[in-house]
Amino acid sequence: MDERAQELARLIAASSRIVAFTGAGISTESGIPDFRSPGGIWDRYAPIDYGEFLRDPRARRETWRRGLDTYPVVAAAQPNRAHLALVELERGGKLKAVITQNIDGLHQKAGHAAERVIELHGNAHGVRCLQCRAWYARQAIHARVIAREEMPGCEACGGMLKPTSVSFGEPMPFDELRRAEREARVSDLCLVIGSSLVVYPAAAVPRYALEAAAKLAIVNATQTDLDEAASVVLRGRAGELLPDIVEAAQRLAC
Ligand code: NAD
Repeated sequence: MDERAQELARLIAASSRIVAFTGAGISTESGIPDFRSPGGIWDRYAPIDYGEFLRDPRARRETWRRGLDTYPVVAAAQPNRAHLALVELERGGKLKAVITQNIDGLHQKAGHAAERVIELHGNAHGVRCLQCRAWYARQAIHARVIAREEMPGCEACGGMLKPTSVSFGEPMPFDELRRAEREARVSDLCLVIGSSLVVYPAAAVPRYALEAAAKLAIVNATQTDLDEAASVVLRGRAGELLPDIVEAAQRLAC
């Protein structure tokens, strides 16, 4: 382990209220592309924003068609070594919350207690009726799209259905944002993993931690806006770096 990785291990060992803030980069090693890296989702699709989805049947048709292409990859993905390292940190009693921008559910699949994971951008595995709030499994709705229902409606009330991931321009889940801010403000270390930190308001979470005098550590493949404010910055692949760091931190804490 190089000097910076050892520094992060020491920082983790010295902390007792850690929050992890994760983005799409923690899941690329599970085979889910991020948005902004070359070959990422923006190279293949233009985003459909919430207003367009509500207004334009073509946007809704395109959302369901696109989902048939993108969702199976998310549904089949398995947690990688970075997700598992965070579970180890939770078991050691230090990790209090995982605040994620991800919609893939891989933190829960890795074994975190569900209440510790705060999803700021919803979840790709569900579909909700915008009228009566009925919930459906995404797979079940996709089965209807495959059976040539281009724009499936709610079985209970006929209302418009939408995946439970938060679209551009859609209001963020208020309770989750509030909980994330609270957890960040009582943390002593915010560990950012795999986020470009450009999507707001989610990316404000590490700033709340800094405002509350917590330390900041960043593990990301490329530069971020908060590198200057961090106590430690590690550039590289989270799944390769984190397991040894967490193991070293746990040895130091004994
Ligand atoms: P982003 O695409 O803006 O940034 C990802 C960052 O991770 C980049 O800076 C990249 O350099 C880095 N990265 C890529 N692979 C890495 C690795 N193996 N180890 C460490 N770093 C790595 O993603 P973001 O910051 O999460 O924000 C964009 C939005 O993307 C979020 O709103 C999120 O909802 C959505 N998103 C989620 C998923 C998912 O759920 N897996 C996938 C794509 C996009």
